[in-house]
Amino acid sequence: MKPLFFWNVFLLFFWWSPLLQGSDFDAERQKMLKEVQIDATETASYIGSSAFSPAVMAAMGKVERHRFVPADLVDQAYLNRPLPIGHGQTISQPYIVALMTDLMKVGAGDNVLEIGTGSGYQAAILAELAGSVYSIEIIEALGKEAENRLQLLGYRNVKTRVGDGYYGWPEAAPFDAIMVTAAASHVPPPLIQQLKPGGRIVIPLGTQFLTQFLMLVEKKQDGSVTTRQLLPVRFVPLTGGH
Ligand code: SAH
Repeated sequence: MKPLFFWNVFLLFFWWSPLLQGSDFDAERQKMLKEVQIDATETASYIGSSAFSPAVMAAMGKVERHRFVPADLVDQAYLNRPLPIGHGQTISQPYIVALMTDLMKVGAGDNVLEIGTGSGYQAAILAELAGSVYSIEIIEALGKEAENRLQLLGYRNVKTRVGDGYYGWPEAAPFDAIMVTAAASHVPPPLIQQLKPGGRIVIPLGTQFLTQFLMLVEKKQDGSVTTRQLLPVRFVPLTGGH
C-alpha cells in the first residue's frame, strides 16, 4: 500500500506544478494588461482612441510572453518594457505590440505579413487574430529559434522565413495588413505592392539617431496610398542590403 501511496502523491505533484506556475504568470499578465490600458489612455490624443479592441486585449492576455524572452529574463517578462533577445535585438514593449496590432485591424481569416520576427511574440499575437501569418527575420539564429518556439507552442497558422523583409513575401501575397517591427527610412515599395486595396501597413519610419515615428499607411480601393504619422517611437533599425 505505502509505495503506491507515495507514487500517487508524486504523480499529483507533477501534474499540478505546471498548472500552479501558469496561474502565477496569469496574475502578472493581467497586471501587464492594466498597464497597457493606462498607456493607451495616456496616448489617446495621438491615436484617436483611448482603448484597444477587446480582441487585441484578449490576444495580449492569452499569449505567454514569458515563453518568448531569454531564460534569465523570465521574471521581467510581464513588465511593460522592451527586453533584449540577443544579437542586439529586442522584443517590443507590450503597449507597442498592442498598439501596432490594433492599428492593423486584423480580422479572422486575414492574411498578414510581419517583417522582423525577432522572438516570435508579435507573430503569435497576430496568429490569435488572423487566418494566416507570414513572418520574415534577417538574423538566421533568431529566425530559426522563433520558428521552433512557435511550432512548439502549436501555432500552425504561422510561417516564418529567414531573409530580407524589405522585399516582402511575394508567393504569399496579397496581404490584408503588413507590420514592420524595425525602423526604416521609407516604406518599402515591394510591401505596398503586396498589400491588398483597402489594406494597411504599420511601420516605424526614421533613423536610429533621429526621432522615429510610427506611421499608418493605407492603400485605397483605387490603389492610391495615404500616410498618417501617429506617435514618436524607438525601434532597432531595419537592416539588409536593399
Ligand atoms: N517583432 C519582434 C521584435 C522585433 S525587433 C518580436 O515580437 O519579438 C526587430 C527585428 O527585425 C529584429 O529581430 C531584426 O533582426 C529584424 N530585422 C531587421 N531588419 C530586417 C530585415 N530587413 N528583414 C527582416 N527582419 C529584419
